[in-house]
Amino acid sequence: LAWPDSGDVRFNDVSVRYAAELEPVLRDITVHFKAGEKIGICGRTGSGKSSLTLALFRLIDTYKGSIVIDGIDISQVPLLTLRNRIAIIPQDPVLFSGTIRFNLDPLEEKLDSQLWEALEIAQLKPTVSELDNQLDAEVAENGENFSVGQRQLFCLARAFLRNARILIMDEATASIDMQTDAILQTVVATSFNSVTVITVAHRVATIMDSDTILVLSDGKIVEYDTPANL
Ligand code: ATP
Ligand code: MG
Repeated sequence: LAWPDSGDVRFNDVSVRYAAELEPVLRDITVHFKAGEKIGICGRTGSGKSSLTLALFRLIDTYKGSIVIDGIDISQVPLLTLRNRIAIIPQDPVLFSGTIRFNLDPLEEKLDSQLWEALEIAQLKPTVSELDNQLDAEVAENGENFSVGQRQLFCLARAFLRNARILIMDEATASIDMQTDAILQTVVATSFNSVTVITVAHRVATIMDSDTILVLSDGKIVEYDTPANL
């Protein structure tokens, strides 16, 4: 039940495509992300960065090779389990309609003090404290009463509460919010210290603090090294 307990990720000669009749968008990917490693992914638009993250959730078909997390081939893991245990901050995150409490803890497993702790870590405590009903304040459909940056921070708070061992961040392309970006980087470096974090970035500056940087081009790995060696 504790899987994944450390967050070790292996891609073994993986090729993926969106449909059987389409060309592969990732080809022969072999790479090993160690537990707790901070990995930055960059490459041109269309190079396959988001597809690589989607393959981890089985949202795209791996038709060759295998992806193994903490010793288990993810094709053997029930989808719900897989999607619950890996946290993602997508390019354009949506929140559920319902309360803030519901968005953070849909299964009602956490204490209020834990919810506030997660909000504090994600630097959302001031925002939520100012709302009339605080944790029970309503979130509008798709989270439209919050900015994209705030929605990303709510996803981060949720990932923290879930004790996810793997966190994926897919940086927004349009309207890059430097302030949110800076908060995300700081929080990842402190509160997600032991978590495997995969950051898809459009600006190299965002991932210069990573342990390793992976550069994709046309669905293939063209560079994989420490920032200093690139
Ligand atoms: P960006 O920097 O623009 O976010 P990316 O590196 O994340 O680009 P991907 O979204 O992974 O690129 O796309 C890789 C390839 O897969 C592209 O050729 C793209 O056109 C194709 N692709 C992406 N999504 C789909 C889809 N839903 N169906 C079919 N092809 C897709
Ligand atoms: Mg993308």
